Amino acid sequence: MLSNSGHSVTLRAAFAGALLVAGYAVVSCDDAGGTTAANGQVTIVYEDDAIKPENRQAAAVIRKSRVLEQLADWVNETVALPHDMGVKVTDKVPPGVTDAVTQPDGRTIYVPPAFLTQVEGALKDVVKAVKRPALFPSAQYNVDDLTALSTQFIFGHEMGHALQRQLLLANLGLEEDAADGFASFYTINEVGPGPSLAAALLFDEIARKEGKLTLEGLSSDHPVTQQRVFNFLCYLEGSDQKKYYEPLVGAGYLPKTRAPLCPQAWAMLDYGWWTQLKPHFSEAFRNQGDKTQENAHDQLIAARKAFEKELDKLRSEQ
Ligand SMILES: [Zn+2]
Repeated sequence: MLSNSGHSVTLRAAFAGALLVAGYAVVSCDDAGGTTAANGQVTIVYEDDAIKPENRQAAAVIRKSRVLEQLADWVNETVALPHDMGVKVTDKVPPGVTDAVTQPDGRTIYVPPAFLTQVEGALKDVVKAVKRPALFPSAQYNVDDLTALSTQFIFGHEMGHALQRQLLLANLGLEEDAADGFASFYTINEVGPGPSLAAALLFDEIARKEGKLTLEGLSSDHPVTQQRVFNFLCYLEGSDQKKYYEPLVGAGYLPKTRAPLCPQAWAMLDYGWWTQLKPHFSEAFRNQGDKTQENAHDQLIAARKAFEKELDKLRSEQ
């Protein structure tokens, strides 16, 4: 069993770590009013002097991929932030930080290279032991590309936290679910299937390393790791069933019991994030953003109608 290795314990701690951060968010978001002058910028800083030698390789992979800069650019173009947001790739982190975290005010995100090295380590095991899903391009089924793509998804998760906290977005569910949702929303719309698939492979490996479910895991503010894998796949499948049904459901990665719910789940998520961001669109993006939000609204209604048509059949098959 791999579940007792020091490596896996650290990873588990890493992915559960945001629990602490989330708890403080309530206290510190009182200054994120929607009417303040809004021209905050996201900047990515690689603190080269504060990256430990053993983590330089993983940090270089992420730097070369530009996945952090891509999302920073997207937010800068799309959203009028009330405050600047600094994304620091550094091993010089606040006490107790071992994974990617967002500070309670949503103004700083830490991406510790030590964490990237851990992600890379888990993905080395994936490449060695897990058969490549046919949907995932063979040219990218290597440690570097998987590390970059899964970090793109994980950074999407942290950006979800940062946006929720800076913009004081109203949550109707757990913040961690919304953060995962933003990662799916952003990467599926703007990048493609790669980040969702790489994150699913990574989290599936983490779940294997975690082993048996514990009270700590079940009581986390994050969904259970294996559940997150299926959530990532469900949103992807639901975003384009014609394209993804066979390679995800037909090939057995996403169960047939879950799949019928996914188009509507995706449409709700897509409409939800566009609607949450709408009051905060930048001047430059507003026209396009409003149209995109209206389109997402229509897509949600269409998805619901399609689901209603199938519902009797689906229920009677269960
Ligand atoms: Zn989180």
